[in-house]
Amino acid sequence: MTSFSNPPSIETILTHAGRDPDSQFGFVNTPVYRGSTVLFKTLADLDAQKQRFLYGRAGNPTTEGVEEVVTALEGAYRTKLVPSGLAAITIAMLSCLKTGDDILITDSAYEPGRKFADGYLTHMGITARYYDPRIGAGIADLMQPNTRAVLAESPGSLTFEVQDIPAIAKAAHANGARLIVDNSWASPIYHKPLELGADIVVHAGTKMFVGHSDAFAGTISTTEAAWADVSRVRTLLGFFTSGDDAYLVSRGLKTLAIRMAAHQERALEIAHWLEQQPEVTAVIHPALPSHPDHALWKRDFTGSGSLFSFVLQPGSREALAAFVDQMKIFSMGYSWGGFESLCLPVAIKGARSALPWTDEGHLMRLHIGFEDTEDLKADLRAGFDRYAKAR
Ligand SMILES: *Cc1c(COP(=O)(O)O)cnc(C)c1O
Repeated sequence: MTSFSNPPSIETILTHAGRDPDSQFGFVNTPVYRGSTVLFKTLADLDAQKQRFLYGRAGNPTTEGVEEVVTALEGAYRTKLVPSGLAAITIAMLSCLKTGDDILITDSAYEPGRKFADGYLTHMGITARYYDPRIGAGIADLMQPNTRAVLAESPGSLTFEVQDIPAIAKAAHANGARLIVDNSWASPIYHKPLELGADIVVHAGTKMFVGHSDAFAGTISTTEAAWADVSRVRTLLGFFTSGDDAYLVSRGLKTLAIRMAAHQERALEIAHWLEQQPEVTAVIHPALPSHPDHALWKRDFTGSGSLFSFVLQPGSREALAAFVDQMKIFSMGYSWGGFESLCLPVAIKGARSALPWTDEGHLMRLHIGFEDTEDLKADLRAGFDRYAKAR
């Protein structure tokens, strides 16, 4: 375990935490550990079960290195690396809930997490209810005696509402519930939900941590009080992350701070430019003064991410196709967080229930990567011209 100045600086954590060259023959990086069997030398060792590693499914030096970095970044008690962001969400939810319990989920939550709640938790006799992401302290009115968890995602990764995490944490704790926050958008570089009262922070490590669109990973970081339940559920379910994938996470994390800074600057440049375009009726980015939650974002975040949305003037599906199909630099696809820019028409209606989305325009989500921003603007400009002609 590396020790740092207090408070530790993010850049130094990213470059130095989670690796121990002395135990790797001086090599700078912790290599890929592949392995199931871990050997015991004696019967006494087998009986004692005290070795650092007992069986590969529980982890290895590569996976533990990643966990150490994320723990330090989030200011957590501990972190578990899991196979995907969705696995992080489902394990976190299961760690708080049993039959007869209730969970409150933000209406802006990542849709597959909603599907897990509706299609699996409900079959286990757990109720899942959805709340307005802007509810803040008002969430106290939704608490039931059996509400044991709240799942927040701030900002939501399609519609970018910023949530009042301290107020929601207070209401949850007053009811004996735990607050889980999906922090994938800002990453711990710009937002630290545990410091604001959350109990569990989850990441789609697939996105900013990996950073190159070439691996899946998730992380769950917790307070000391929430750790035992998360660790137990993860262990019982048998989730395991390979050393190969863990290595890609650890490699990505080394440059997380400088990538986040570059994403932030480029995304803001494009967002400001989009605000001037006649085909655009709204730009939904929390760091823009026009965003309804801008003050809350300023209070609780120190920066912004690569991802935001805008709304295109209403128009036909054919016009939308004319906009996206012929793009030369932006590509269309799920996920985000890589070096390449993405432009995705969002099917928002099915992803909401508490607060229906009423804007008639096409909701478009952008991930701004590392291409030249003038090239990105030219690609969008040409798309707007095609859209204007076709709609
Ligand atoms: C992508 C995403 C997830 C899920 O991550 P996977 O690794 O794809 O399972 C969870 N939350 C948010 C906000 C995401 O964008």
